Amino acid sequence: MEIASRHAGCVDLHVHSTASDGSLSPLQIIERAKELGLRAVAITDHDTVEGSAEALGYPPLPSLEILSGIEISADVPSGTMHILGYLLRLDDPSLRQTLKRVQRARANRNVRIVEKLQDLGLRVQYDEITSISGGGQVGRPHIAQVLVHKGAARSVGDAFKKFLRKGGPAYVPRYRLLPDEAIRMILGAGGVPVLSHPFTLDAKDEEDLEGLLVHLKEAGLKGLEVYYPEHGPKRTAQYERLARRHGLVMTGGTDFHGAAKPRVQMGIGRGDLRIPYRLVEELKAAKV
Ligand SMILES: [Zn+2]
Ligand SMILES: [Zn+2]
Repeated sequence: MEIASRHAGCVDLHVHSTASDGSLSPLQIIERAKELGLRAVAITDHDTVEGSAEALGYPPLPSLEILSGIEISADVPSGTMHILGYLLRLDDPSLRQTLKRVQRARANRNVRIVEKLQDLGLRVQYDEITSISGGGQVGRPHIAQVLVHKGAARSVGDAFKKFLRKGGPAYVPRYRLLPDEAIRMILGAGGVPVLSHPFTLDAKDEEDLEGLLVHLKEAGLKGLEVYYPEHGPKRTAQYERLARRHGLVMTGGTDFHGAAKPRVQMGIGRGDLRIPYRLVEELKAAKV
C-alpha cells in the first residue's frame, strides 16, 4: 500500500509482456498497474504489437490509461539500439507487414544457414538440427553439433571457425531493421519514435552520442528515454540536457520484464523511479 501511494499518479512507459520476453500477460500487467495506482502504462514488446493490442482490447478503465507501444531492435554496427514507438495505430497495414517480415526473418535464419551448408556440399538436413535441440529453441550451437557429428568439423568451436562464425561461409546475419527504417515505420503508423536507454549505444562520449541523436532526429526521432532504472543521476542529467538541446520529448519507463529481471519492478524500477504523468502529455503533444 505504501508503494501504491508513493507511485499513485505516476506512469511506466516501458513494460514487456508475454508477447515478447516478459513473464506477465498483458492482463496481469494491467492488474499490477492498477494495484500500484499508476495513471498510465505502455506495453512495449520487442518487435511485436500483440501485447499492446491485447491490453487495449480490454474495456477501458477510468483510472488507468493504456498507451499503444512497441520496442524495435535496430541494426547498428556496435552497441545495442532499441527504438520505442508510442501512440501508434496498431492495425496500420504497413506496420503489420514490416513486423511480419522481421518475425519471419528470425524464424528463417536457421533454415537459411542449413541451405548455405548444403550449397557448400555438406549433407545436412534441417530435421537433424531440430532433433538435436530436443524441440527447444534452435541456434547455431545445434547446427555446429550436427557438423561435428557428420565429421565436417572437429569440434563445435571448429564448426564455428570453419562455417558459422560472423563472416564465415555459412553465416546468415540476424535480420534487423535499420534505425531509419524503424523510425519511418513508427511515423508511418502515426506514432512517436523515441530512442530507448541511450547508454546501451556504447557511445564514446557526449559528443559521439549527440552526433547520433542529430542523425536520428533528421530521420524523424522525436524523443529520448531519459528516466530508466540503469541511468543514475549523472546520466539522467546528461540525457535531460541533450533532450532539451535537441527538442526531443523525454520519456521514462522501467523496462519491466517480470521474473526475467526480478530486481526491476513495474512503475518503480529499483525503488526510486517516479515518472510523472506530465511526460504522457508531452508525448501526445509530439504526435502530429
Ligand atoms: Zn530495450
Ligand atoms: Zn525494453
